[in-house]
Amino acid sequence: MKISALNNLAGSLSSTAPMPVLFLGHGSPMNAIEENEFVAGWRETGKSLPKPKAILCVSAHWETRGTLVTAMDKPLTIHDFGGFPQRLFEVEYPAPGSPELALETQKTMTKTTVGLDQKWGLDHGCWSVVKHLYPAADVPVVQMSLDYYQSPQAHYDLAKELVSLRKKGVLIIGSGNMVHNLQRVAWDKMNEIGFAFDWATEANEKMKKYILHGDHQKLIDFKSQGKAFDLAIPTPEHFLPLLYVLALIEENETVTLFNDKAIAGSLTMTSVKIGSGD
Ligand code: ZN
Repeated sequence: MKISALNNLAGSLSSTAPMPVLFLGHGSPMNAIEENEFVAGWRETGKSLPKPKAILCVSAHWETRGTLVTAMDKPLTIHDFGGFPQRLFEVEYPAPGSPELALETQKTMTKTTVGLDQKWGLDHGCWSVVKHLYPAADVPVVQMSLDYYQSPQAHYDLAKELVSLRKKGVLIIGSGNMVHNLQRVAWDKMNEIGFAFDWATEANEKMKKYILHGDHQKLIDFKSQGKAFDLAIPTPEHFLPLLYVLALIEENETVTLFNDKAIAGSLTMTSVKIGSGD
């Protein structure tokens, strides 16, 4: 076989490759309506992906008892924040839901009981970023909640059950922030991209190293990684979506970091793309 024929063969095989998986550091809800380098990074990432059949988004902003997925046809845009300009409350992201994907997720997760939810919708952890990936709102979106009562290890383990969805054209997104401490925000440096406290830099650098080395156990055991991690992850909900994404890495997949900058001293926007999708 000639080299060109081999290349063509490789091309056709790779088209059946699993969909990439994304962890997106979402930061301020204002990113939904502002233009900055993070928004540009999401937009570019969206363009680099094969068009998904649907999105399954694990957002830091939906914690429940048990694991739920949104199962309505038309999820509402939830404005789950306060103290922002009226124009942010007016943003609607009218992507359809996908009761089919909700049922498929329930069926796929045999070790975890997944409930079908009709009350939630799309919270800002989801729509403020997905809006930039798919501005036309033409990809159906299902959200999956974080079970408040589960350990980090249990979250990582249950996420592994989602892996087959990748081969069904589903884009799985975890939306949170690797370093996220709102008590320590440097309010006077809100608009200074790149400003980080030492502990935030230390934690973010270690997290990136563990991600790139595939040392997931250190990240699952984030509560035992010392002072910088304690400050970076005062509560787990913004960090846990990262574990969902890491759990879905398959052998020899590429792991790419982007939007790797801090904001306001105590948050990092560092995002992760698993796989290439081609
Ligand atoms: Zn958030």
